[in-house]
Amino acid sequence: MTTSPPSVADGVRPEVAEALERTRAGERLGERDAKLLVMARGAEHPAIWAAAAALRDQGKPPIVTYSRKVFIPLTNLCRDICSYCTFAKEDGTPAAHTMSPDEVLAVAEAGARLGCKEVLFTLGDRPEARYESYRLQLRRYGYESTQQYLRAMCELVLEQTGLLPHPNCGILGRRELSELREVSPSQGMMLESTSERLCGPGGPHEHAPDKRPATRLAMIKRAGELGIPFTSGILIGIGENLEERVDALLALRELHEQYGHIQELIVQNFRAKPETPMAESGEPGLLELMTTCAIARLVMGPDANIQAPPNLSADYGPLLAAGINDWGGVSPLTPDFVNPEAPWPQIDRLAELTREAGYTLTERLTIYPEYVWDDRFLAPAMREPTRRLADVEGLASAA
Ligand code: SF4
Repeated sequence: MTTSPPSVADGVRPEVAEALERTRAGERLGERDAKLLVMARGAEHPAIWAAAAALRDQGKPPIVTYSRKVFIPLTNLCRDICSYCTFAKEDGTPAAHTMSPDEVLAVAEAGARLGCKEVLFTLGDRPEARYESYRLQLRRYGYESTQQYLRAMCELVLEQTGLLPHPNCGILGRRELSELREVSPSQGMMLESTSERLCGPGGPHEHAPDKRPATRLAMIKRAGELGIPFTSGILIGIGENLEERVDALLALRELHEQYGHIQELIVQNFRAKPETPMAESGEPGLLELMTTCAIARLVMGPDANIQAPPNLSADYGPLLAAGINDWGGVSPLTPDFVNPEAPWPQIDRLAELTREAGYTLTERLTIYPEYVWDDRFLAPAMREPTRRLADVEGLASAA
């Protein structure tokens, strides 16, 4: 079906219609156009969604992917303090917990029985820098750092269950990333934002040294240099302005154009959580989330993988009309420990909504199909364990 470009008659400003026309013609979206689109008004929103959806359909098959996984919150201690976070707990409080190797293995084995293929390790950033008792606990397990412990747990689940680990543990140095690459096919860390203001007094990242934009961008660059398929993305609604939102997308595009390693870009919407300093802050609505997803698609281009988590929007089906092609990790077993108030949708429901939009819900691995058969992006030791779970297209095999 062909659609005519939006026009002034549709309530779309001429400059917006022209910018969208340029993307339709295959032009790379420039900073000026991206910053114009992010200021969309009224009927311009659906015009932007439609342009993004058309770009997705141009570059992607008619499938929407997800990864069937278990979440392992290896430790919920963290050296940072972010104003919106309920994941991190203070050491010594009842909810603080570092999982033992036995606990890790029990969750991974339960996931394997339910057909999961990924273990997503979520954890706080370098808690050993803040807590003496945690350092002692690590030593009792036989490790000097969280990264060493994480690496060992990746190896454990890989060897014992065959599930593919995806570590997401904050800022790491080159050697640390490289060591994790030996035991996992992909890694991740949200960029969140490139706004320095958020690190200033009163900002959500004032007490989070690992959230400095330059620190995060440098780490994502290191991952690119090492050939690590990398998941990143932006967190919207934490105090950044609309132009800063575009700056973050452009920064990720620049790194991806250099290294080709951003396998997936997540657009995550801030959810206000009780008992946090940002409990009363406004949350981005569905329209704003859709337009941000659409701009992410237009910035990153037709081949990119753009994800929005389905459990963070009451009505997530419309996100497909804004150019996303992935729902992220969905667990039949473990809750979303970062957003525990937001349960995962049933996979059947996700499949139904996806079908209604004209696409087929399809399982992928933690590493995206584009990277599975490309030796540049997998350590030799990870090729067989990864590829044994994949089909010829790099998606999760049905067997
Ligand atoms: S770095 Fe992550 S885990 Fe630590 S406080 Fe911030 S959001 Fe929470």
